[in-house]
Amino acid sequence: MSDYIGRFAPSPTGPLHVGSVIAALASFLDARHHRGRWRVRMEDVDETRCDPAWADAILRQLDALQLTWDGAVMVQSQRKAAYEDALAQLRAAGHVFGCDCSRREIADSALPGLDRPVYPGTCRQSGKSGPGLAWRLKAGKLDDPPINFDDAIQGRQSQWLARDVGDFVLKRRDGLFAYQLAVVVDDHDQRITHVMRGADLLDSTPRQIHLQRLLGFAPCEYSHLPVAVNEAGQKLSKQTLAPAIDAADGVALLNRCLAFLGQPIWPAASAAELLALAIPAWDRAAIPKAASQPADRLTRPSA
Ligand code: GLU
Repeated sequence: MSDYIGRFAPSPTGPLHVGSVIAALASFLDARHHRGRWRVRMEDVDETRCDPAWADAILRQLDALQLTWDGAVMVQSQRKAAYEDALAQLRAAGHVFGCDCSRREIADSALPGLDRPVYPGTCRQSGKSGPGLAWRLKAGKLDDPPINFDDAIQGRQSQWLARDVGDFVLKRRDGLFAYQLAVVVDDHDQRITHVMRGADLLDSTPRQIHLQRLLGFAPCEYSHLPVAVNEAGQKLSKQTLAPAIDAADGVALLNRCLAFLGQPIWPAASAAELLALAIPAWDRAAIPKAASQPADRLTRPSA
């Protein structure tokens, strides 16, 4: 065993589809290739979108594919106390503020950001407290240096948090914690050293690094995989009606995912046999260095 600890962190909003199996397989192979551990975490922090039945279904699919995880599955909906502690720590250090702006008020005066309007700073100095507020993290000043990191697949990344993202929500007005806070606290508590996931989360990484620094957590090493997209360039997901997978034909499915990841495919009689061949052969450097890639690369014949 090495010190490497990787993870797969699906949101149980539906069963696994081919896009999520790619992330599961890649993070599993990278961990096992490095003689590391591989953990699973159910990211049901947004309880309005998740269903425990899907969490069970996902674990059964991972089992059928022989993607066996180490230790207990962490479940975000059971971790509110840990998120509350982290928020209290940030609050005590003056990094967060209470905000009661409506979406409309923000949209009226905000500039566009990377994934939503940049919060215009309305409540930043107002010292609001009490129930029913959202809690936002101060993103710093426009002339602050960028957050930089070296992604092991996508290369050097830089983001100017104040300009590109702005003060972002850690706890919503409805009391639910935001993904960005939950993921940072959980990666720390699960002692994750390596995060390998889809490149749709590349833009979130600087927020997570910033939070890790404020909370005094060790940094992770990041690798962002190309995202499988359909003919219209949309990420395969429940919303874009990604076809359901057949975990019973695990060998064919895993080989399609290996081809997508630029790895050799294997004639094997079972998923377990295939993984035993794929683990030593895993080559992170062969993963295509694109943020997205057509899902038809899934059917490309082996090199
Ligand atoms: N739960 C996220 C998803 O399913 C993944 C989060 C992560 O890997 O950090 O898209």
